[in-house]
Amino acid sequence: MSGLTLLYRGQLASCNFDCVYCPFAKQRDSIAVQRADRRSVERFVSWCASAAYAPLSVFFTPWGEAMVRGWYRDAVVGLSHLAHVRRVAVQTNLSVAATWLDHAVPDRVGVWATWHPAQMPMERFVRRARRVHASGAHLSVGIVGLPEHASAAARLRDALEGVYVWVNAVKRDPQAMAHDWGSVDSLYGWNTQAWPSLGRACRTGEEVVAVDGAGDVRRCHFVPEVIANLYDGSLGRALVARACPNATCGCHIGYVHLKELGLDSVFGEGILERIPARHGSPNRTPTIPGPPPGG
Ligand code: SF4
Ligand code: SF4
Repeated sequence: MSGLTLLYRGQLASCNFDCVYCPFAKQRDSIAVQRADRRSVERFVSWCASAAYAPLSVFFTPWGEAMVRGWYRDAVVGLSHLAHVRRVAVQTNLSVAATWLDHAVPDRVGVWATWHPAQMPMERFVRRARRVHASGAHLSVGIVGLPEHASAAARLRDALEGVYVWVNAVKRDPQAMAHDWGSVDSLYGWNTQAWPSLGRACRTGEEVVAVDGAGDVRRCHFVPEVIANLYDGSLGRALVARACPNATCGCHIGYVHLKELGLDSVFGEGILERIPARHGSPNRTPTIPGPPPGG
């Protein structure tokens, strides 16, 4: 069977951090929710282990922070050991030291790490990021593009040679958008747009799908229609080419799959963890395609 990418987002909606720009700051999940989330993650991993799709790629895109929960660390480690898994990637704030990587197959692991300067000293974040990078796992790091993060972003860029540093555009904030982030993230322009997507071809729903804790499958995180369930055998016939039903797509984890943007060739195998294909190894100046005109 052909390859498939699964974007997993379960019941977890809590975070140990307190970012002023985030609705999940300092939220707690009840014990019942935590147990349900754990059961869901374990069921999902079991499904992946026996799935006939190859290569299989998995991206944990939680609300909140997942890696403070042992069952997510176990899931990433376990999936990395499966021969048919090409990549298992996770979004994290790096609040948990990556000692769990010692048990993983690092070359199959992708880490999308966001630094929140008000929540973690730069030295700690950089130390943890360097450890992830040195392990052989695929790492990108980034920051929310607020004006008050400008000097922190530049220092992060300087501190992590060989690691791609992205900046998330804060589209609602004209002051943030007026800042020149291009010296930190040469691909920043892609993230500044709400890309027109209505009726346009998008790989989600065919090669990439989003899965929730109940196993319900949607084409992506931004289109609510359920097209199948992972556990009732309905997935295979649901995977067909589909045009996007939304007017625009402005989130990296969505628009990278919009075919006409060609971002699959920009990011290549690092498309999930947000690492451009031509981003070099340490000590090599990266040659990265520029943003689109007007980007
Ligand atoms: S670390 Fe992420 S999920 Fe947690 S509060 Fe900050 S932005 Fe929200
Ligand atoms: S373009 Fe974005 S919103 Fe539309 S289907 Fe693709 S990922 Fe979903």
